Amino acid sequence: MAQQTTRSSDHFQLVISHCKEYGFVFGSSDIYDGLSAVYDYGPNGVLLKNALRNYWWKDMVQRHDNIVGLDAAIFMHPKTWKASGHVDAFNDPLIDNKDSKKRYRADVLVEEYIAKIEGKIQKDVDKAKKRFGDAFDEAQFRATNGNTLRRAKEIEDVTQRLKDALEQEDLGHFTALINDLGLSCPVSGSKNWTEVRRFNLMFHTQLGNISGEESKLYLRPETAQGIFVNFLNTINSTRQKIPFGIAQTGKAFRNEIVARQFIFRMREFEQMEMQFFVPPGSSPEHYAFWKEERLKWHHRLGLGEDNYRFHDHIKTAHYADAALDIEFRFPFGFKELEGIHSRTDFDLKQHEALSGKKLQVFDPVSNSHFTPNVIETSIGLDRLFLAVMCASLKEEILDSGQPRRVLSLPPALAPNHLAILPLVKKDGLPEIAKKIFQEAQLDVMCQYDDKDSIGKRYRRQDALGSPYCLTIDHDSLQDNQVTLRERDSMQQERVPIAEALDRVQKTTSLRSLYQ
Ligand code: ATP
Repeated sequence: MAQQTTRSSDHFQLVISHCKEYGFVFGSSDIYDGLSAVYDYGPNGVLLKNALRNYWWKDMVQRHDNIVGLDAAIFMHPKTWKASGHVDAFNDPLIDNKDSKKRYRADVLVEEYIAKIEGKIQKDVDKAKKRFGDAFDEAQFRATNGNTLRRAKEIEDVTQRLKDALEQEDLGHFTALINDLGLSCPVSGSKNWTEVRRFNLMFHTQLGNISGEESKLYLRPETAQGIFVNFLNTINSTRQKIPFGIAQTGKAFRNEIVARQFIFRMREFEQMEMQFFVPPGSSPEHYAFWKEERLKWHHRLGLGEDNYRFHDHIKTAHYADAALDIEFRFPFGFKELEGIHSRTDFDLKQHEALSGKKLQVFDPVSNSHFTPNVIETSIGLDRLFLAVMCASLKEEILDSGQPRRVLSLPPALAPNHLAILPLVKKDGLPEIAKKIFQEAQLDVMCQYDDKDSIGKRYRRQDALGSPYCLTIDHDSLQDNQVTLRERDSMQQERVPIAEALDRVQKTTSLRSLYQ
């Protein structure tokens, strides 16, 4: 039985180096020393990313007959971004530390401060739990313990001030909050801050070679607007009726102030968004449905249900009347993985106002037109990739005392489902192995590997996350059987070739996630 080594604080560094070593993620234009917060996906990374996107797409478009797909262009008419509010309001509050010259998002600094206090409360709860065992009543402890009450009150006060600061046009409130809390720069340790300023996150370029406001194009900061501007086209060209959804995956671009933590916060990233159009008044019911539906989708990946939690937004964006995040426990703490937003009728009404086109539907019952409301689910594909890598990568100590690095990816998503390994490169084994390889390739993603000892090949496939290895030995020539090795348990079983392929196909299909 293998022992898993403890998750150390450098687990994240291990994930980053593993991604590079095994061809999952490379820094962009690496040979020129990279480009900050831009990344490329390597041969195994692109397979995993495609599999994740496919899981999302099939769940949305194939499993819901009231959701259709779309692939809108990245460039859109500049008025789109005026209508959506991004030109005027897609800003982050930033602050610089004068000593380290590092730039931070002011709201993130305050949120990290709150998370620290939450961590202290949790530590006290855990300590008390240990001391009192089964008799421990957490709710009572939280309601009566002096230190915990004091800290909870501090969280409440700071959260309220953060909310006020976010809503204030006057950024002085933000600067005052940072100074009052005595926040210091994580790099220089100093409290020598600039004032808080606003920073628009959109990248822009221009159409052709004419300059000026009319030709100024933005790289879309979200895919959602491509869906809103195609609302009429979609409803007119399909038989969909409200309520129905439009799903889209694609690149988005944000000039993030602080881009760090590998592919968690990138300047070019991919989103998977679904806008669900509902009758006015029914948003709360659909919001509650999608909140649970999306959490179930995450849970099916099998990364551990306690690695997820909901987080209601302190302040909703200008277009929303309710919003929450599905957070994931990354090595650097619980952070947003997906957003669920009740976007009201803001976007359709804005586009209607600026385009002059009626974006409404007819209700035969009331004999009148109405503007649908929208529930949005929005997840970052790269962040999802990171979550899956962080939860799947393990270092174990085997019974033999040897270390093993294994990437326990959900089998359906693994870059390669099956590795075909002839024991030796002679005696007719490669011939059968090639035949099995060609047969298996029709159903699953396979890798053929005949280099190195069999033990080394197993280790490599473990590190790549391949759920199965199929080994062909001399007996296979006689009995048509092969050894099927399962990645996580390392159990080996001798089975007929057809049975082995059948088992691999079944356990690595997307269907397996739903059983
Ligand atoms: P954050 O608060 O982390 O900046 P956000 O609230 O601005 O994120 P949304 O606008 O709701 O994010 O975008 C939806 C999803 O897109 C997020 O949940 C996240 O998974 C992903 N996402 C947003 N910004 C980035 C980024 N810079 N890099 C990678 N993924 C991102």
